[in-house]
Amino acid sequence: MCGIVGIVDAGGVSHPLYYALYALQHRGQESAGISVINGDRLRKHKAQGLVAEVFDPETLRRLEGQIGVGHVRYPTTGANTPENIQPFNFRFMGKGFAIAHNGNLVNTRELRSYFEQAGQIFCTTTDTEVIAALIADELRRSGSIEDAVRLCMSRLRGSYSVVLAYDGALYAFRDPLGIKPLCLGRTARGHIVASESVAIDALSGTLVRDVRPGELLRITGDGVSSTRITKVDRTAHCIFEYIYFARADSVIDGVLVYDVRRKIGKRLHEEAPADADAVCPVPDSGTAYAIGYAQASGVPFTESLIKNRYMGRTFIMPSQAAREQAVRIKMNPIRKHLDGRSIVLIDDSIVRGTTSRRIIQMIRSAGAREIHMRIGSPPIRAPCYLGVDMPTREELIASCRDEEQVRDSVTATSLHYISFDALIEAIGHPCDNLCTGCLSGCYPVAIDGEHARAREVEFLDETLQLGLDSFGGTA
Ligand code: SF4
Repeated sequence: MCGIVGIVDAGGVSHPLYYALYALQHRGQESAGISVINGDRLRKHKAQGLVAEVFDPETLRRLEGQIGVGHVRYPTTGANTPENIQPFNFRFMGKGFAIAHNGNLVNTRELRSYFEQAGQIFCTTTDTEVIAALIADELRRSGSIEDAVRLCMSRLRGSYSVVLAYDGALYAFRDPLGIKPLCLGRTARGHIVASESVAIDALSGTLVRDVRPGELLRITGDGVSSTRITKVDRTAHCIFEYIYFARADSVIDGVLVYDVRRKIGKRLHEEAPADADAVCPVPDSGTAYAIGYAQASGVPFTESLIKNRYMGRTFIMPSQAAREQAVRIKMNPIRKHLDGRSIVLIDDSIVRGTTSRRIIQMIRSAGAREIHMRIGSPPIRAPCYLGVDMPTREELIASCRDEEQVRDSVTATSLHYISFDALIEAIGHPCDNLCTGCLSGCYPVAIDGEHARAREVEFLDETLQLGLDSFGGTA
């Protein structure tokens, strides 16, 4: 659950990278960083904190260059330490090399051990440094970045979207199953690749398309070329991007997230109507669901919880104590909208149940008579090994409880999770093209001790040159 961006811009990349990272802030609030390449010179600035805290005008002025990459981080693999903050800069065979990554490998230990046996040392505990080591190892042999990425992809197992600035070009590649999102956009003076299309919007750019699973893009001031490195018979886009992670105004793999959430809200009403005075979202991620429910039911949409917008998301805060304290500071109920009323309360998901229980207590203390909870995802029953800091099975409230037991635990009047089929229908991708690991316990890559829907990855050697005309011309 990180955000990455890479930009080529004839007018300089530091400010565009800053704005793009700002748009991706929801994907990680622990740290932020930017690396730029100017000729042979690499510059970087990164630190713990929010994007607006890490950068100032003077820092951005010093980050001169026309190619650069940026990252906002929430840690999944690797400790919360300054050396793990991305992007990483390296010098290799006389050339600068900057890399940033979103995702999680499931075979990092094995790959690290391979290099350590050969005497290589690592400065961080991140997957990203392992990816960089694999690329450098093959670059040393072949001198070709395409060959290096091909070899790297053949050895990585897990999820990865990567941006890499090297030798006068920006490279971007995505894992063969397309688990983590990555899209390509055109701006007034260049191109951008980013985790979500909202970063392209922030630069007043145009979304060109998603980076295809298994594809490598090379972007320079002259345009974009594409090499299809691997091909699989299906994809495995993370279903939770649509449910929770992505911003509602992002288009992920061709689908507007807001539309998915609104449709789910409508289906929640069809599956579990409630006799209520108001439909209230848990802000902000419950809002589009609640609008869909209210439109379908005719029950008025009513804001009854107001969010303090200057706090991080409780779900991705690193300790239970921090999460519990955060709920109370983060939301305040509007007593007038709740007193004596029966409400439908809509949220995107229930993870541990702690947040839902505290919100329900808060709403009940504000006078609500009945609280009918409706949830935009099916029960989360299993952990994520592919890039999201989900709790262990033992901590997940639905891993060993049925719907009635969860309702009882969170103290709602009634509870309904969206059905799996309705969720898939709202997204519009076939179920087989989505990762549903945390809902089904069935993962798209082999994970030790877990059931896998392993897929054959076929390595291709197909190069598509996408000239400027393909994108309607650019600077
Ligand atoms: S397990 Fe869940 S959160 Fe993790 S990648 Fe798959 S769908 Fe996304």
